[in-house]
Amino acid sequence: MRNVSILGATGSIGVNTLDVIDRNRDRFRVVALTGNHNVPLLAEQAAHFGASLAVVADPEREDELRQALADRGSRAEVQSGQTGLMAAAGMAEADTVMAAIVGAAGLRSAFHAARSGKRILLANKESLVIAGEVFVAEARRHDARILPVDSEHNAIFQSLPDGFENGLDAAGVQKIILTASGGPFLDMPAAGLARVTPEQACDHPNWKMGRKISVDSATLMNKGLEVIEARWLFNARPDQIEVLVHPQSIVHSMVAYRDGSVIAQMGTPDMRTPIAHALAWPQRIEAGVSRLNLAQMNDLQFRKPDLERFPCLGLAFQAMEQGRSAPVTLNAANEVAVESFLQGRIGFESIPRVVSEVLERHALCAVQNLDDVLEQDGHARRLANDCLKKIA
Ligand code: NAD
Ligand code: MG
Repeated sequence: MRNVSILGATGSIGVNTLDVIDRNRDRFRVVALTGNHNVPLLAEQAAHFGASLAVVADPEREDELRQALADRGSRAEVQSGQTGLMAAAGMAEADTVMAAIVGAAGLRSAFHAARSGKRILLANKESLVIAGEVFVAEARRHDARILPVDSEHNAIFQSLPDGFENGLDAAGVQKIILTASGGPFLDMPAAGLARVTPEQACDHPNWKMGRKISVDSATLMNKGLEVIEARWLFNARPDQIEVLVHPQSIVHSMVAYRDGSVIAQMGTPDMRTPIAHALAWPQRIEAGVSRLNLAQMNDLQFRKPDLERFPCLGLAFQAMEQGRSAPVTLNAANEVAVESFLQGRIGFESIPRVVSEVLERHALCAVQNLDDVLEQDGHARRLANDCLKKIA
């Protein structure tokens, strides 16, 4: 029996995680759940799964959550804010923590789960982008295992041999090939990109996801963040990582070996597969996902990404090569720009402009611990907001 704490339970990944757990109640028990705004859903989840801790972001909403829990017959303890997130991430009863908060907001709690030696199911890719080296070192020091939930990384993890952590070269790996759907604007001419709305950007052809990652998929920044995520998860050099556009989202990623073999993981695009894999690893469980019907698929395509129409991917590769404070700066500028786009204040094409300008203006420096990361994150957000004032 595994005891699971879910950070970001009310989001897209959180809800899918609970769906998989619901199908496997004999194997998993939910001990803690956290949410940002959606108190009714959080209370519903806590009552249904019998969680013993429920955490809401805003301390002023603790009473509302208490009442909502009582109305549903739950006796879960209520906490809030960063303290509450830390309690859920480090909870003694939990052996497994699903890190599914979106953005840099999920960093401290994911770190705390690492320090507490938990098995971390990592959806919050931004943690690895902004603090990869520090985060992985911390997890190793405390014997915390990181299992990737991001579909591409989960696919790569499934395609790598045991012991890959000791070096991809030694494992015979030549390249990690991340596939990208290309998002909703894959074939849209550059002129059209200037006019797309947040609703169009969030309408992903293959995946139903939270709004921030949906916009990232549309700009291809999501793939850029994933390239950096892969670097740290798989101990890869920048030159060992490639991106291929694969609009059907059936091959979730691949590993190319020295002897010419390419091992790919395939499946119906449904996040419950990687979630179930990470939850049960090294076993396999029911995930409610429909079986891939390859006989009905006559067209799986692969092509190079277009870095001219989608400059965010190139910016991410550049930030990865620069290292140090560049990835945290890239991520913070992107978070600020995406939020501004979602609020209708800037156009879609301004997202890469903001990121690129902030990367150019910031002074590259070392990041050696969590405090350094948070300082650079704040600095980049200020630069990005300056930049927005000029645009909006
Ligand atoms: P979402 O917006 O649907 O959910 C985010 C969750 O985090 C919610 O529970 C929300 O309440 C909580 N949250 C947001 N801001 C918070 C804050 N400041 N403090 C505390 N809690 C906060 O996002 P999502 O699509 O579920 O994505 C979650 C993470 O998983 C992201 O890092 C994303 O990149 C990654 N991911 C998602 C998918 C997907 O299919 N949705 C796929 C791969 C990776
Ligand atoms: Mg992904």
